[in-house]
Amino acid sequence: MAIVVERVSKRFGNFQAVDAVSLEIASGSLVALLGPSGSGKSTLLRLIAGLETPDAGKIWLTGEDATHRQVQDRNIGFVFQHYALFKHMTVRQNVAFGLEVRKVPRQRIKQRVDTLLELVQLQGLGNRYPAQLSGGQRQRVALARALAVEPKVLLLDEPFGALDARVRQELRSWLRRLHDEVHVTTVFVTHDQEEAMELSDQIVVIHQGRVEQVGSPAEVYDHPATPFVMGFVGPVN
Ligand code: ADP
Ligand code: MG
Repeated sequence: MAIVVERVSKRFGNFQAVDAVSLEIASGSLVALLGPSGSGKSTLLRLIAGLETPDAGKIWLTGEDATHRQVQDRNIGFVFQHYALFKHMTVRQNVAFGLEVRKVPRQRIKQRVDTLLELVQLQGLGNRYPAQLSGGQRQRVALARALAVEPKVLLLDEPFGALDARVRQELRSWLRRLHDEVHVTTVFVTHDQEEAMELSDQIVVIHQGRVEQVGSPAEVYDHPATPFVMGFVGPVN
């Protein structure tokens, strides 16, 4: 298992955002955390990333207890909804950033950035600045940057949420192809049932900080485990 979440809880004040969640995510899979707004998806993702500390429970990454490990030691790549590209850096410099920090030799960085730009189909745009790119292109740069350091796990929080419907559709099929090529374990958060259905191997349905059901898109759709899942993803919406 790439990720094991073991009875993890997190509260903010009196609000239980994540409530004793247990979850296993297989290596190389593409998994959606699906649920309505406020259900605790982002908090769960941030707990896996190490951006939040659990009140209780454990998080295992590739077989090791990572519960108390710092973010930078978790070997994770992230992409958030609102692009966090460095505005004053070119596309190449953005993608290279994590490699520079790790003091990778210049020549290796150049090769790796070329490979990544090809992977996200942005060859030729390396010298542009984020302001000179479309929203979809910026998210592809963010993905290339996240992948640059060869993370064991890629975490995406509503990565296409801010984009218009057509671009979102394009990026979905593109992410699926990318995943089939790179095979990095990927967990992405969405509140969009269609996106989860179309893109993922497994769907984790989250409601009020708890896991309602885990299953393939077909299982979740055809055999909803709870009335909530039936209402949220089932055929009679
Ligand atoms: P989702 O991503 O499913 O929309 P979140 O995990 O962002 O849900 O949030 C779940 C709940 O926890 C929300 O009600 C939100 O207001 C609350 N919450 C999240 N982060 C914080 C925080 N840092 N401080 C206080 N409340 C928070
Ligand atoms: Mg969220």
